Amino acid sequence: MKAPISSGSRRVVMVGGGLAALRCTEELRRGGYDGRIAIVTAEPHLPYDRPPLSKDVLLGTREPDEIRYRDDAFYREHEVDMFLSHRATELRIREREVLANGSPIAFDDLLICTGAAPRPLPVQTDLDGIYSLGCIEDTLKLRAAMRNGSPRVVILGAGFIGAEVASCARSSGLQTTLVNLASTPLERAVGPAMGALLSALHADCGARLLCNVSIAEISGTGRVEELLLTNGERIPCDILVVGVGSAPNIGWLQGSGLELANGIVCDATLSAGPPGIYAAGDVAWWPNELFGREMRCEQWTNAAEQGRHVARNILAGHENRTPFVGSNYFWSDQYGHRIQFAGSEAADEVRIVMGSFESRRFLAYYRKGDVLCGALALNESKHLMLAKLQIEKRTCWDSALEALGHCLV
Ligand SMILES: Cc1cc2nc3c(=O)[nH]c(=O)nc-3n(C[C@H](O)[C@H](O)[C@H](O)COP(=O)(O)OP(=O)(O)OC[C@H]3O[C@@H](n4cnc5c(N)ncnc54)[C@H](O)[C@@H]3O)c2cc1C
Repeated sequence: MKAPISSGSRRVVMVGGGLAALRCTEELRRGGYDGRIAIVTAEPHLPYDRPPLSKDVLLGTREPDEIRYRDDAFYREHEVDMFLSHRATELRIREREVLANGSPIAFDDLLICTGAAPRPLPVQTDLDGIYSLGCIEDTLKLRAAMRNGSPRVVILGAGFIGAEVASCARSSGLQTTLVNLASTPLERAVGPAMGALLSALHADCGARLLCNVSIAEISGTGRVEELLLTNGERIPCDILVVGVGSAPNIGWLQGSGLELANGIVCDATLSAGPPGIYAAGDVAWWPNELFGREMRCEQWTNAAEQGRHVARNILAGHENRTPFVGSNYFWSDQYGHRIQFAGSEAADEVRIVMGSFESRRFLAYYRKGDVLCGALALNESKHLMLAKLQIEKRTCWDSALEALGHCLV
């Protein structure tokens, strides 16, 4: 008979059952952790991949049971206690326990990875027909609504999720309008210059994009029928999708003693302060040494890397933990195009260094001082990955351009 893995007496508890928790679990067992592991999560599902929720699952080309990362057997074999449908409501640091569904769960080390939830509509209304995207159930509701006749879809916010929903709506042939408060789509993520360029992708595929405008009033009988915009325009609407960003899930930690701001305030090692308590993923606010500033990332790669990093810090012990440095990499799939970005959009200069927007294939470099600080690619994955490595090494601008020149020869 196989000897149990968890013969040790210690216990790591993870609150939040998403990507960060899974990667932390995998890395702990890979690193020889022989204590017990528990994942406490509010959702009834095993950890699953969220990016398809605004892409394939919304389109209907994949189903929710196809986006699970691992099946039951993985958690059994790795001796992970799954507490599904368990919402943590309190952290008791002194007692070293978390309260979930009214029961205390004791830990030696704790990883808080409760993610982020979509911000609500900034206008008060109790009408039906308003959707957001954060979990499987949200996507299934929106998908059903989009299949019900030929609804007119309006999306508030032209960030990544808003743009991906617009892309799905257009490929289903639906009349689609994006209402965006900022002056360009993706402005916060890729900066105004590249945001302006990428806005043409919406027009290419027949989605109407309105910028510098928001929703002033929503009207309808029982469900949304019309929107009054802040510029005075009235637009008909059957489905309103709210894509105005996410807020970290930290409400349950109020009064716990942890420092909270725009996320759980961590040091560079992702420690939330008290020994053995860490945060990772969308919920963590930490000083990223690569950019010399504190940040919170709502991106898949960041959650995976931070989850793994916390596992290594737990294995090393509190005194030997090391800083986490992330390159802020993300991707988005819109209208059949892949957009990728790494680094920081806060630049002195942005230059297209390869290809052209007209060919819908290009690479742009972002310069801060004499350093390559960021890179954006449209349908140009290979060179983006090279730039990502250079950004991580703080490569100077001239050397980065020279290296790219060599690649193209
Ligand atoms: C629709 C959508 C599309 C996306 N597309 C992309 C993309 O194309 N590219 C990209 O880079 N990133 C994308 N992302 C972002 C990426 O999926 C996230 O950054 C990543 O999932 C974060 O992982 P996490 O482990 O921090 O949190 P999550 O995966 O959000 O998991 C957090 C878990 O904690 C649970 N939880 C919350 N509060 C509690 C509590 N009190 N007690 C117990 N459990 C709790 C939640 O229910 C959830 O299950 C997308 C996200 C969404 C929602």
